[in-house]
Amino acid sequence: MEFSSKLLEKAVSEMSQLPGIGKRTALRLVLHLLKQPKEQTDFLTQALTNMRNDIKFCKNCHNISDIEVCEICANPSRNYKIICVVEDVRDVMAIENTGQFRGIYHVLGGKISPIDGIGPSQLNVASLVEKVKAGNVEEIIFALSSTMEGDTTNFYIYKQIKDSGVTTSSIARGISVGDELEYADEVTLGRSIVNRIPFENSLRNI
Ligand SMILES: [Zn+2]
Repeated sequence: MEFSSKLLEKAVSEMSQLPGIGKRTALRLVLHLLKQPKEQTDFLTQALTNMRNDIKFCKNCHNISDIEVCEICANPSRNYKIICVVEDVRDVMAIENTGQFRGIYHVLGGKISPIDGIGPSQLNVASLVEKVKAGNVEEIIFALSSTMEGDTTNFYIYKQIKDSGVTTSSIARGISVGDELEYADEVTLGRSIVNRIPFENSLRNI
């Protein structure tokens, strides 16, 4: 792609670093910004900079938050003894949208994936095991996507907590294996949380 401007080329190059954005799409987005009032670009860059500089991770559940303890963890009407284990903030948002879950979350920040070099130590696994061993948890609900990485991660955590007397369950999927949680429709996802199954029953595929 030949550019008539180094500034344009640089902007397109940076934009195309984003996932799913090729050079052509990046060029279209950049040209769109150029056509808009300059403030539009200022708002965008400021929002991104502020997010990057000021965002926090809840010190209890590791969810993305503006404050030290996220609103879900700080809500006294939530049941702190029921913890739903998810991969990232998108899963929290998807489950919250169902309105069917009144416990709290534990955000792992990814899944165990040896191919990508991601092991348990890069994820928020140890803090979850600590919480369970501290004895204040009644139930752990595994809600990772049913991919091989999700199953591996669930099983890794399960092995570490199964002797601590905590109930372990898995969301009952009405969705096919490999579907990501965030794409499940709200009714199906809500039902799968209400109708969760004992974790042991979800182990058939391992
Ligand atoms: Zn939290």
